[in-house]
Amino acid sequence: MTFDIITIFPKIFDSFLKESIINQAIRKKLIKINIHNLRDFTEDKHKTVDDKPFGGGRGMILKIEPIYKAVQSLKFKAQISKKAKMKDKKVKVILLSPRGEKFNQKIAYQFSKLDQIILICGRYEGVDERVAKNIADMELSIGDYVLMGGELPAMVVIESVARLVPAVIGKSELLKERITKEKGFIEYPQYTRPSEFIPKKTRGKKRPEVWRVPKVLLSGNHKEIEKWREEHRKIIEK
Ligand code: SAH
Repeated sequence: MTFDIITIFPKIFDSFLKESIINQAIRKKLIKINIHNLRDFTEDKHKTVDDKPFGGGRGMILKIEPIYKAVQSLKFKAQISKKAKMKDKKVKVILLSPRGEKFNQKIAYQFSKLDQIILICGRYEGVDERVAKNIADMELSIGDYVLMGGELPAMVVIESVARLVPAVIGKSELLKERITKEKGFIEYPQYTRPSEFIPKKTRGKKRPEVWRVPKVLLSGNHKEIEKWREEHRKIIEK
């Protein structure tokens, strides 16, 4: 599965790609993440990616031409490397936008079945609307708040989709344990050692505060533990 990101701030992704499970998944060739600088798809000397809005108003708008060129070339690139299979290839072009469809686990699951996801990161006051209308297959929002760019949303999408790609997260049995029949996720509270924690401000006092782990989890009684987890769990629907 390949993620292609189009951005004017490619360096924002540096540490994200170099750390943790994402990096392992890349090294194991389970996923591929390509970061593309939008400026590389401009044709003028100044590598212009933005311009003033028609009709006036605040700020700058990302222009359509470089985005069009970038998306075309990314789709085409895939075509020459795997010509025979291209027509069966499942590709989605996504524009990150606070006005888009709200991202959730269900969409993440659908995306995990694709072969290529092209993510367009907006900046400044946004993106020429023709990108949403004519280039992107969908507009996607990660929540009802406005960020400064689509880079964090792109990382949110990549991380939630990548962990659903088989073998990305350790043992598949471990993941299965947390999946409902409807493919939603089960989340319950978790603890690790120490079983009792005394906050510094109350240490040495006559009656120190103790933050305890629920007794049942220390009991070794698997039936009771299961029951407790069931009672305290939250299901994140697919
Ligand atoms: N006025 C603009 C908002 C600009 S925010 C508009 O109405 O679209 C700049 C860029 O940040 C957007 O183009 C988008 O790519 C990204 N962005 C901001 N908030 C977002 C959110 N909640 N979800 C997804 N992308 C977001």
